[in-house]
Amino acid sequence: MSAMLFSETLHESWAQTFKMEQVLFEVRTEHQHLVIFRNAYWGTVMALDGIIQTTEKDEFIYHEMMTHVPLLAHGDAKKVLIIGGGDGGILREVVKHAAVEAVTQVEIDAQVIEMCKQYLPNHSAGAFEDPRVTIIIDDGVNFVRTTDEQFDVIISDSTDPVGPGEVLFSSPFYEGVKRCLKPGGVFVAQNGVVFMQRDEVTTSAQRLRPLFADVHFYHAAVPTYVGGAMTFAWATDNTPLRQQPVEVIRERFERSGIQTRYYTPEVHVASFALPQYVLALMG
Ligand code: SAM
Repeated sequence: MSAMLFSETLHESWAQTFKMEQVLFEVRTEHQHLVIFRNAYWGTVMALDGIIQTTEKDEFIYHEMMTHVPLLAHGDAKKVLIIGGGDGGILREVVKHAAVEAVTQVEIDAQVIEMCKQYLPNHSAGAFEDPRVTIIIDDGVNFVRTTDEQFDVIISDSTDPVGPGEVLFSSPFYEGVKRCLKPGGVFVAQNGVVFMQRDEVTTSAQRLRPLFADVHFYHAAVPTYVGGAMTFAWATDNTPLRQQPVEVIRERFERSGIQTRYYTPEVHVASFALPQYVLALMG
């Protein structure tokens, strides 16, 4: 019997297709459709609402770049907020920073956490049990608009702006981020594969600029986020954070003792260098 196929539905006229050698779990949760399957090349794969979220084989690229760039640029982050991130990959990378004292993760769908703990255990690698971690099941926009806590680094690891993730690309969400970001803090967010989702860069820049002194993007190619480099939004009032010399970043990286498979201080600094067409989309 030929294996079943998973064809991603993110784009109208173009899709990547995976052989599903084995479907491990599938459910329509309160918020979205969740499927976890095995693929011979990519390992265990998780998709939400027909869109690839993460695979065992290439997740390290995204999770290292979304975490170590803001944390090592900041240099003294004690409190970190993660919005989304139900697979636990960002949390795994954040807790590697021994100087971080508290991590709050606000995820809308408890089933994503539970199923990823079970079927993608290496993503969180025990991070959910780290004593510094607090997990809150809520819509991220509610949390940032109501919490009385303040954070040094806020990481929005959301789905694409469809379904429950859409609100995490809105001005009300960004205003909430602004109100709970400590002075000198930095906000980063998954902001789509720019070649395929050009308007995401333009709208994020337009919505973030009224709120933050420095709005930019950085990027990394994540193979299963198809269509070119994945862009990460960067927003802070602490403009020098993005301009630090590689020597400063390297000193912090080496002091952290963190082992990586993708991130290096040189990649960190270079990731902010954007192609002309992306700069043009930023307006
Ligand atoms: N790395 C993936 C990507 O770039 O597409 C995203 C990973 S993670 C699975 C995305 C998470 O965002 C999911 O667990 C989803 O449940 C969560 N999410 C979506 N909308 C949310 C919201 N409004 N508040 C909090 N979490 C949300």
